[in-house]
Amino acid sequence: MNRSTYNWIGSTIQCRHCCERVTQVENDFLCTSCHQLTQLFPNGETNRRRRGHAFVAASMLKTIPALYATENIPCEVKTLYAHYFYGGHDWYIAELDPETGRAFSCCPCHPGEWGYVNLVEMEATVGAWSVIERDLHFVPTSLQEQGIA
Ligand SMILES: [Zn+2]
Repeated sequence: MNRSTYNWIGSTIQCRHCCERVTQVENDFLCTSCHQLTQLFPNGETNRRRRGHAFVAASMLKTIPALYATENIPCEVKTLYAHYFYGGHDWYIAELDPETGRAFSCCPCHPGEWGYVNLVEMEATVGAWSVIERDLHFVPTSLQEQGIA
């Protein structure tokens, strides 16, 4: 280990929820994304146990572009970062506001239909088919690459 790595480790702490190093002791020892998650779901995700996996992952808050950040990119070639599904419905997320959970998404079951959803509300939704799930094996892609558009 060289000197600067040593200093970096000495001057940072590890986030309580993930392996990210944080420079300041703030936000209750959480990195920005993990802190935002606790703001979005103050009591944890409502259907976390039933679903068996996290509806919103901290990594999504880091990587998905902010709302309107990709508005100049045509919808068919926009990168989609997360896939949610329920019964025969799919939602693909292209933009996300980590403060509110509002996301810009498309539902290919209604071709060309893009709109806003709220991940906090979707997480809490329970329907006849159970709960909305997140595709844990989804690799970021566009509608065109998937052959949907
Ligand atoms: Zn973290």
